[in-house]
Amino acid sequence: MIIDHDVIILGTGLAGLRAAVEIACKSGDMVNMGIVSKVQLMRAHSVCAEGGTAAMLREEEGDNLDLHAWDTVKGSDFLADQDVVYRFVETSPQEILLLDHWGLPWSRTDDGRILQRPFGGHSYPRATMAADKTGFFEMQTLYDTLTQYKNFTRYDEVFATSIIAEKGRFCGVTMIDASTGEFNVLRGKVLLIATGGLGTLYGFTTYSQTVTGDGQAMAYRAGLALEDSEFLQFHPTGLVPSGILMTEACRGEGGYLRNKNGDRFMEKYAAAKMEVAPRDIVSRAEMTEIIEGRGFEGPKGLDYIHLDLTHLGADKINHRLPLIREVTMKFLGLDPIYEPIPVRPVAHYSMGGIEADINGKTKMEGVWAAGEVACTSLHGANRLGANSTAECLVWGGFAGAEIVKYLGTNPGIPDMPADRVEEEEKRIFQDMLMRDGNENPYQLRRELREVMDFHMGVFRTGDEMSAGLEKVRKLKERFNNVNIQDKHRIYNSNLINTLELENMLLLAETMIVAALAREESRGGHSRRDFSKRDDVNWLKHTLITPTDNGPKLDYKDVTITKWKPVERKY
Ligand SMILES: Cc1cc2nc3c(=O)[nH]c(=O)nc-3n(C[C@H](O)[C@H](O)[C@H](O)COP(=O)(O)OP(=O)(O)OC[C@H]3O[C@@H](n4cnc5c(N)ncnc54)[C@H](O)[C@@H]3O)c2cc1C
Repeated sequence: MIIDHDVIILGTGLAGLRAAVEIACKSGDMVNMGIVSKVQLMRAHSVCAEGGTAAMLREEEGDNLDLHAWDTVKGSDFLADQDVVYRFVETSPQEILLLDHWGLPWSRTDDGRILQRPFGGHSYPRATMAADKTGFFEMQTLYDTLTQYKNFTRYDEVFATSIIAEKGRFCGVTMIDASTGEFNVLRGKVLLIATGGLGTLYGFTTYSQTVTGDGQAMAYRAGLALEDSEFLQFHPTGLVPSGILMTEACRGEGGYLRNKNGDRFMEKYAAAKMEVAPRDIVSRAEMTEIIEGRGFEGPKGLDYIHLDLTHLGADKINHRLPLIREVTMKFLGLDPIYEPIPVRPVAHYSMGGIEADINGKTKMEGVWAAGEVACTSLHGANRLGANSTAECLVWGGFAGAEIVKYLGTNPGIPDMPADRVEEEEKRIFQDMLMRDGNENPYQLRRELREVMDFHMGVFRTGDEMSAGLEKVRKLKERFNNVNIQDKHRIYNSNLINTLELENMLLLAETMIVAALAREESRGGHSRRDFSKRDDVNWLKHTLITPTDNGPKLDYKDVTITKWKPVERKY
């Protein structure tokens, strides 16, 4: 079946929904949208965002835009584009107020103002929150707002498999409707890719199992460059052994990190900021403590340190961190009011993504990208906490507005090359589904995650990464012999998980290739064999594109408008 829309929004997380609201609002509900999610709309990963959304709201009390911009640039280890950062910090306060007007129940001060709390790497408490369920309330508010408009169709549980373009112009997206097993095509004048991150490339991760990098992989296959793929963020506080996030708000509210001697070890690594230093620094500090024998022995090699909230008191924990208490009690039978929480660094966020300009526009005509899937060069080598949900809102808004402008030029819906659609259908339903191979996709996925956990962790070396790349390439070969047990079409989660695995294998390769090439340490990319930042040779963004001979690397300059790189001390 071929279905036409003016705009296809791939992804219903914060970025996708914010863009949909902007398009509906700016166009007076005149633009017809197809809104696609591989799970139910409200199950997008964004509902899991916990701690807060960054915005400068308190100029009269000492915060200012320059400070938020400086914190972001310094946090990025000077790889962020400063024009992009500035536009971001100027716009995020408006997004907070918009959501307030649309009904979001922000946590409040006693005198009724929007409450903000400290977050890692920020010099002012500017994480705006709804307790520790911020993403859920943001999603709910955006969806409620969207339902005031009528001109959209929801495609829930519909899995996109490829982006089809002709002569550099977007034509449509191929997709499998899980509930019917039908292979459909959505044609459109515009595509917004808002498919989120790739966290489940790793075994020990904070991400929902749905976050498999599909959008990045589809864009890459369609010829778009991925930018800064080597920069993967490890969050300092993943619950051991599940990896569930213990939000940075735990430390923002005053929680301590302690080693097995009971010491607050951050004193040695970032004496001024202590536990609320940026994530790359805290994660390295924790791993150093563990490697040097000052951690606790954990299950399955997951040695850990303690996140101690016991001094915060029951009232603060119950009001500001209720989800954290619920999760630790349910998963470990541990009450953080009385006992410290076992945590260690955990794969959390992809700083890299589809190369996009300051408006979220990609290099393909008719295609924008927003949210975690995109790389607008906002986060550079290390994202600051609370800047991601803010990014989703800001660039959802920008992309939505730009798309409405573009539609004003009457672009029309291009013809879809029928042979490409047939090829994709055959590739999936004949070659892949009916193949009588002997490789189990779930075993391959497990092995991939072990490779990434082991070879692409907080600390890296060239030798470890080369060995990891070899293993990933072997897994890719074995994937060609994959056997999907369920041969049916309806709700075939085996098939969808296998397509996700194919995407993950591709992205693991690009990530390692980019990381191996970058012979320096910067932000989330920390090499034992090149332990210093090297601004002379590496103050540049990585671009990676597909060729017949595998991934090809290029580089582009970082935009520096105000702050020259200096040593990063906290
Ligand atoms: C546990 C956790 C807590 C976090 N807390 C915070 C926080 O407090 N503050 C902060 O700033 N950041 C936080 N982050 C980061 C932040 O939540 C994410 O970066 C952000 O929510 C990503 O939103 P998104 O709109 O880009 O994508 P997502 O919310 O991941 O949405 C992706 C959408 O794309 C769809 N999709 C994906 N692939 C396909 C496909 N093949 N076909 C069809 N649809 C597809 C999905 O179904 C979904 O609808 C947190 C991250 C984690 C893991």
